[in-house]
Amino acid sequence: MEQNVEQVLSSFRQLVRKISSYHEALGLLGWDLRTGAPRKGAEMRADTIGMLSTEVFKLSISEEMGGYIDFLSRSDVFDQLSDIDQRSVTECRKEYERSQKVPPEKIQKYSSLTTHAQTVWEEAKHNNDFKGFEPMLAEIVEMNREFIDYWGVKDTRYDTLLDMYEPDMTVAKLDAVFDRLKSRLVPLLQKIQESSDKPDNSFLKQEYDLKKQEEIGLFLLEQMGYDFQAGRLDESEHPFATGLNPGDVRITTHYYPEDLMSAIFSSLHEGGHALYEQNISADLVGTPLATGTSMGIHESQSRFWENIVGRSRVFWDHYYDKLQSLFPKQLSGVTKEQFYRAANVVENSLIRIEADELTYNLHIIVRYEIEKMIFNENLAVADLPQVWNSKYEQYLGITPPNDAQGVLQDVHWSGGDFGYFASYSLGNMYAAQITQTMRKELPQFEDWIAAGNLLPIKDWLSDKIYRYGKSRTPSELIMAITGEELNPDYLADYLEQKYTEIYKL
Ligand code: ZN
Repeated sequence: MEQNVEQVLSSFRQLVRKISSYHEALGLLGWDLRTGAPRKGAEMRADTIGMLSTEVFKLSISEEMGGYIDFLSRSDVFDQLSDIDQRSVTECRKEYERSQKVPPEKIQKYSSLTTHAQTVWEEAKHNNDFKGFEPMLAEIVEMNREFIDYWGVKDTRYDTLLDMYEPDMTVAKLDAVFDRLKSRLVPLLQKIQESSDKPDNSFLKQEYDLKKQEEIGLFLLEQMGYDFQAGRLDESEHPFATGLNPGDVRITTHYYPEDLMSAIFSSLHEGGHALYEQNISADLVGTPLATGTSMGIHESQSRFWENIVGRSRVFWDHYYDKLQSLFPKQLSGVTKEQFYRAANVVENSLIRIEADELTYNLHIIVRYEIEKMIFNENLAVADLPQVWNSKYEQYLGITPPNDAQGVLQDVHWSGGDFGYFASYSLGNMYAAQITQTMRKELPQFEDWIAAGNLLPIKDWLSDKIYRYGKSRTPSELIMAITGEELNPDYLADYLEQKYTEIYKL
């Protein structure tokens, strides 16, 4: 490599390293704010986070960065770079170009608009007052429409937003995938509702000691290979995972006295996100590639551990005895089979975050279709409640009695996160597809789970997914692992098989 390339590359790496240091500091400030920082410091802390975020954003769009990217992207130079450097440059260029296209004052305005909107949304949800949120939501939508023009319209206008969370995902692909999924899941849900053999889960809603809930959560995390030398478990209002660096990936959960499974499943879920971040290869540290490759692939890992492993019969074959011994009073009369069925109750409920494995996807399809209408068909914000309710009736057979339990339930739109929802369902589909391959390559898959031997599964996922971080795109990963593109039939097959047995369809 010529001298000059060496020099620029080294300066580029230093700048990128500086940016990732800011992100680590910001991540820690954010984690602290949500896990017990003194209340009186919260406002000041939010200001500090805002200030430092602006600084790091400035670095990523600085002239300095622009200069490095221009130079390193020249084809004669780019070809000399290692795979990691090439992908780092590409990643930084994507971010740089995207930000360059929007005037800074618009970005500033949008940032304060969405910060303010969170509070307005919270209040509107609390008061069941869509009209109170409507003007602000309309403004956020309008600004996103402007951004699409700045960024450039891909196949359709909504494609431009989707690509932010799931690179290369398109409306054309998702339409086909979701239509297929819908055509299989809606009839399955109807059959389940008509089943006369429904599981009883009332015993899960007794009083369960919080310390013991924590004990089982910690135990299961250790079993799945979460490294407590490289992370910790805390409590927060809403569970989350945050990867500061691969040696410090923290998770949280929330314990409810009268709900045994909520904290257990959220620990497995966040634990899945954390395994991904903890096992990213060390040579990606300090580059923009030291994180999950997309929201969808990240979610595939949380949902794999929460649902495919954590809600399986073999898993509880092994771990139920331990759970029962912690809660003898509540569970002494409950058999493994009763417990397994209770942990897999399907309900066509109104609230996405409380939804089961099956209906969850229908909640997402509703949101995907509505967002697509907003950006591709100019659906007016004022019409959202009515469209929302009619889609719930159509896919889930229920109509929200009010907007608080309907169109106002999610935080995402107040933050301007249009295009994000699809990731959740993509996660379910990727997880089922990856599991199909895993079962072929690891024929002992179920025996291992039944024996409480989860580490070989974690190792397989580390080898196929985790270690690559963002150095492979979602489609590269899924092709390399499974030999085919995203295919919704694996999820539909898995759910059909599982619920046919549980509900004796
Ligand atoms: Zn998640």
